[in-house]
Amino acid sequence: MKSMFKVLVVAAFAVGLAGTVSAEPPGKGTTIYLGSHKAGTQEEIQKLKKGDHYALVCMECESVTVKEVADDKEGEALCHDGGTVHCDSCKKKFTIKHSGTPGKGTTSRKVTYVNADGKPCMFVVPIKK
Ligand SMILES: [Zn+2]
Repeated sequence: MKSMFKVLVVAAFAVGLAGTVSAEPPGKGTTIYLGSHKAGTQEEIQKLKKGDHYALVCMECESVTVKEVADDKEGEALCHDGGTVHCDSCKKKFTIKHSGTPGKGTTSRKVTYVNADGKPCMFVVPIKK
């Protein structure tokens, strides 16, 4: 399961995350969409509810961790400006930062996860079924 996500994300990197990457795992009939943005939008992440899945992609250690939302507050916590998210693989902490301004053709802000140097190092991809 984990390696499949890695392949998908590598493919997403390869196309510069310009389009939506989708795949249908054999026998499952589930389509997984990796968003076209490096970081999910605040709106998308906030929509995560208990039982939903999301991929936490860490560029620092090149890992993809698929997580299940434990409670309805998790989505909020994942896009809380100034909060932190930590990577299960490299144990590093990243700071949640909002970017972009709502309005002007877009209603949602992008959420980025930056390291101590302010460099975006992680992103959350809500997995839609
Ligand atoms: Zn990591």
